[in-house]
Amino acid sequence: MTNQLTFSRQTKNEIYKSINHLKNCCVDVFLYAVFKTLGSLTFTNKGLALAVSTENNDLLNLACKLVKQQYGKTCKVQSENTNSFSGNVIFNAKFDLDLVEKLKLIHYDEQGLLQIVNTTNNFFDDNECCRKIFLKTLFLCCGSITVPVMSEDFTESKKGQRYHMEMVFSDQTFAQSVLELLNWLGFDFKMTKRKSHVVLYLKKPENIADFLVYLNAMKSKLEIENVMIERNLRNVANRQSNCINANIDKALLASNKQIEAINLLQKAGKLALLSVQLRDVARLRLNHPEATLEELAQITGISKSGIRHRLDRLVELSKDITQGETHES
Ligand SMILES: [Zn+2]
Repeated sequence: MTNQLTFSRQTKNEIYKSINHLKNCCVDVFLYAVFKTLGSLTFTNKGLALAVSTENNDLLNLACKLVKQQYGKTCKVQSENTNSFSGNVIFNAKFDLDLVEKLKLIHYDEQGLLQIVNTTNNFFDDNECCRKIFLKTLFLCCGSITVPVMSEDFTESKKGQRYHMEMVFSDQTFAQSVLELLNWLGFDFKMTKRKSHVVLYLKKPENIADFLVYLNAMKSKLEIENVMIERNLRNVANRQSNCINANIDKALLASNKQIEAINLLQKAGKLALLSVQLRDVARLRLNHPEATLEELAQITGISKSGIRHRLDRLVELSKDITQGETHES
């Protein structure tokens, strides 16, 4: 995997392939999801129409094909001259308003005023296939996914790179009803605001993997799991090497302290007055400054705790000297 955009696109391609042959009941659901997320009402010379703009040419072509097939209405996908923010070409198509009405996107209230329908309630007739197509289409229209990219060397991924899956909506009421559906299905999406948009998102990689399974994006699910495994392995490896380094540092620090103490005792003429056992250990430490207690124990045949006790005693005795000096001065 090379970059985040590639992963998002790859996931969408996989999901798109899985919706290529829609069941009859799912067609309206697909169109509804496309119109609801990518559509906007616009005036044309024939009156009000629904304009759909997207970078996803395949998706828009599929929408046109289904409109023709299901409602006998033709529509043409055009590419816009102006480029989008990301530098990609934007495609758009216009759809008849009566189609929008048929799809329950709008309705006329008692006063005959045009109202936009904002909820997904009672839309699927409890069809699992329709529900799935609805969420797949929403992700294709307004979803994205990122996973941490591992660097080539054996270090942790770049800071700030996390697992993240989101869908961005402009309509808060609609986003709320999508959230309710997702939660009802057992997906732990959270909602937040970003400028004028509402974002539904997942952060935990295992939750993202579960949702990818629901969307039939198995390749992407496996890829995210590979990243999780790789990251875990690296974290364990990093922790272990940090741990070993910390222990070595600690041992060297202690040895330095002991050598300082021994030198101090020697300068003060106190070393010669100490017991044979303490003098032997002092010499041992000076001869093997980098040895661990274990290694010193092996050299002498004295127990590790015996060595530690004697070295600690030497450090303590040297403290008496420094304290004595401060008292004298
Ligand atoms: Zn269906």
